[in-house]
Amino acid sequence: MVSSGDKNAAVVSLVGAGPGDPGLLTLHAVDRLRNADVIIYDHLIPPFVLELANAAAQRIYVGKWGAETRAMPQEAINDLMVVCAKSGRRVVRMKGGDPFVFGRGGEEASHLAAHKIPFEIIPGVTSAIAAPAYAAIPVTDRRLSSSFLVVTGHENPERVERRVDWGRIANAADTLVILMGFQQIESICLALTAAGRSPDTPAAVISGGTGARQVVVEATLATLPSILAQHPPPAPSLCIVGDVVRLRKEINWVETRPLWGLRVLVPQSRDQGLVTCEKLMNLGAEPVLFPTIQLVPPADIAAIKLAIKSLAEYNWIVFSSANAVDWFFRWLFECDQDTRSLGTCRVAVIGSATAARLRHYGVIPDVVPAQFHAEALVDALIAHAGPAPASTWRVLFPRAEEGRDVLPQRLRSLGTSIDVLPVYRTVLNAAADGRALEAALAAGQIDVGIFTSPSTFRNMVELLGGCDSARAVIDKMTLVAIGETTASEVRKFGSRVDILPAESSIDSVLDALKSWVSAGRTNAATDVGTSPKPKCPPNDTLVG
Ligand code: SAH
Repeated sequence: MVSSGDKNAAVVSLVGAGPGDPGLLTLHAVDRLRNADVIIYDHLIPPFVLELANAAAQRIYVGKWGAETRAMPQEAINDLMVVCAKSGRRVVRMKGGDPFVFGRGGEEASHLAAHKIPFEIIPGVTSAIAAPAYAAIPVTDRRLSSSFLVVTGHENPERVERRVDWGRIANAADTLVILMGFQQIESICLALTAAGRSPDTPAAVISGGTGARQVVVEATLATLPSILAQHPPPAPSLCIVGDVVRLRKEINWVETRPLWGLRVLVPQSRDQGLVTCEKLMNLGAEPVLFPTIQLVPPADIAAIKLAIKSLAEYNWIVFSSANAVDWFFRWLFECDQDTRSLGTCRVAVIGSATAARLRHYGVIPDVVPAQFHAEALVDALIAHAGPAPASTWRVLFPRAEEGRDVLPQRLRSLGTSIDVLPVYRTVLNAAADGRALEAALAAGQIDVGIFTSPSTFRNMVELLGGCDSARAVIDKMTLVAIGETTASEVRKFGSRVDILPAESSIDSVLDALKSWVSAGRTNAATDVGTSPKPKCPPNDTLVG
């Protein structure tokens, strides 16, 4: 694969973002996003796609604005691309679906060519094929259709020379895919039947194709106009006409995924959130990545360097999170040392995700307690240590600066010498767009929020404008807390915790969500909604 890090790379990449499911992005698209300085993007780009971009890249929205659905004029977009490219920046021009399928990609490429700006086209998965595929409608099928045709249903009356000849199109292909605009649907259906297509020809309208809000309405050419008049489809929608629509009943696949249709808020830090998002997508859910926290180096770097120099003095290292593992190794490598420096030091971890992260660095933990809490770890250490009393252990405990003291206190009470070493700090991600989240929550667009630490919840409250404004919207989603510590933070705020998994891990959260969906998505009624909420704490206690 040619990487845009190459010297000869294009300056402007016209990139297709696919139809909605971010999993349908191409490898080239992801590479260009990671290397972009500026991203100029349209209305239908899923927010998750932008999260894949280089965090420092400037993002410029040129799609529809507000209710009046005004877009930046095409000439202005063309000029913007040229200005950004001439300033020496790598530009990604992102478009929904494929840039050349009703995406004005051709016009933009012509403009760049005229200005001698090197460019490339990165095709995307077009909604014309992908939305039917997710609706279980193959555009061709040896039994039913040997051709398909993609056409716009949006006619511009001022451009007579480009008028769609529906009479000719009616029999030009077995499957017709009509993109954009349903204002003319009645006359289109009439024109198609007048030209010889049977009024009984199956047809379907697919809205929000490939996303969690995908809705498919089936009809025939005869019934389609009245069905659409009664239930106008939400944008974006397309229409597919042809016998292939019948196959849907037989091969429906996506709607059978365990978390299909669920929109899930992922408020973890960006890197961890991306892993959770991928797991959610594989189960059919649509993740909404909203990093409320950011991990940054702690205040005292000298202490870390000293501890790493003295690793040989410890006989245990304890990790209680995957983040602690990542940051510990980051500092180890930064000190020009590697895994061998752990020597004969034994390693204990809390949680299977922490253990998995450690294996990633080539270290197999000696102790992983069956339960995910400090007491279970101490019991496991005692069992593992055999006759060596706890007072002979020297333990290093790399963790977050703001971590809790349960484990150190318990070990000290046994006479153990333990050094707590902050290797990172969790801070509020002030760049997250709290107003966008508030609007999405208020509109009921998020079904579930997964909170993986007290700070993910506290910081979301802060980003929503503080306790009072957060209260108005938070209870609109089902709240999942990864464990008891996080759950008590949610309850302290006055909200109910709807789902508490068996274990403190993302995989256990996903299992709990699957059971919740298969049980009909019902939350146990609690008195939280009616009882008076606790008073909002002063703002400064929220962050951290
Ligand atoms: N370049 C895009 C199409 C742009 S025109 C592509 O290749 O997909 C915009 C039209 O595409 C919308 O009006 C709608 O008809 C269709 N469309 C885009 N995304 C869609 C989706 N997720 N589901 C259904 N139709 C979609």
